[in-house]
Amino acid sequence: MALKYVDQIDFKGKRVIARFDFNVPLSKDGTKKITDTTRIDSSMQTIRKILDGGASKLIMMSHLGRPDGVANPKYSLEPVAKYLAEKLGQDVILTESSIDDGIPTLLGLSTTKIVLLENLRFHPEEEENDREFARKLSTYADFYVNDAFGTAHRKHASTYEINAFFKNNSAGGYLLKTEVEALNKIAEPPQQHPYVAIVGGAKVSDKIKIIERLLVGVDQLLIGGAMAYPFLKASGKTVGTSLCSDEDVKLATKLLNSKQASKISLPVDHICSDSMEGNPQTVSAQSIPENLMGLDIGPRTVENYSSFISKAKTILWNGPMGLFENSNFDKGTFAIANALAKSKAFTLVGGGDSVSAINKSGVSDKISHISTGGGASLEYIELGSLPGINALKFGVE
Ligand code: AMP
Repeated sequence: MALKYVDQIDFKGKRVIARFDFNVPLSKDGTKKITDTTRIDSSMQTIRKILDGGASKLIMMSHLGRPDGVANPKYSLEPVAKYLAEKLGQDVILTESSIDDGIPTLLGLSTTKIVLLENLRFHPEEEENDREFARKLSTYADFYVNDAFGTAHRKHASTYEINAFFKNNSAGGYLLKTEVEALNKIAEPPQQHPYVAIVGGAKVSDKIKIIERLLVGVDQLLIGGAMAYPFLKASGKTVGTSLCSDEDVKLATKLLNSKQASKISLPVDHICSDSMEGNPQTVSAQSIPENLMGLDIGPRTVENYSSFISKAKTILWNGPMGLFENSNFDKGTFAIANALAKSKAFTLVGGGDSVSAINKSGVSDKISHISTGGGASLEYIELGSLPGINALKFGVE
């Protein structure tokens, strides 16, 4: 069954409830200014399609921050409502709560067109995927749209259970469509080969499942960042004082003993220091001396990895190659970003830190797709779909 998207829907006269990801960062100085509006801006195409398509009402919903099931003005969607009203040039009414008793009356007024429900996560039922909470939300509309890709890996009331009440009356938004189409090029064989995945960042345990899954399909898996040290230790090298837990060494050992192990490439040299704040020094061997910690991949590793990248036709990158927030240890990450930018392959970057690394390196416009949902994009690649997308496609009983 194919997933329906908003571009196939006639919204004329429909009451539409739509889930977005308006989880934007707010300034901490008390003024609650939105410091980065990207998430709202990238929802505008779907919002405009619904409104220009003639919907009679648009009820928008989102979460913001982690209020943990308790109403907290700090996490109110008020700044979002204000910004949306400015962008749309129309009134956007923010409700007192997402299941406020007054909502049906409000929606009954002919003057009410666009409503933003207050933060869904003020109610514990949202994250509990509560059926009754989902049912209440569903009573506001006759059509459901989900454009919150970043939360599609969560089984929450507004992303999952709500689908029980909109059989054949639901669609994915444009953001979801762009993500799914790009991720399918990576998640669904046949990918264009050679297919190279680059995985970095800090913890093997968080990414072990994705690595296991990737190893089946990729031709080469390049490992960098703090991810590399458990693998190096598992292959008998020394890692000095680098980040490296026993648990991660166990997991790395398992992968190095798998049938696919020959596809794994590890750093052959490093940029190290005596602390995260210390001066950088190059270690030209795979083993790291006792008193040093690895904080970036070295120049020979950059060369090796860039050579794989230059020949690839499909490239996935998740996780920085080093402690790139510190300019002493950002060279490896930026070199990989530049190698991706030069490549003619389909390049997909996913995961919060690799996205900020690619933005910082100034080459984001040369990447085929930068996924907005860190956890969601990784899970999509691992599982080939996400609970929120499956529910939209097949419904919920
Ligand atoms: P992750 O969320 O797993 O992608 O990890 C990203 C974080 O890992 C970033 O904050 C990096 O600074 C950090 N990181 C990457 N490589 C290293 C390293 N060699 N040592 C310490 N931290 C690192």
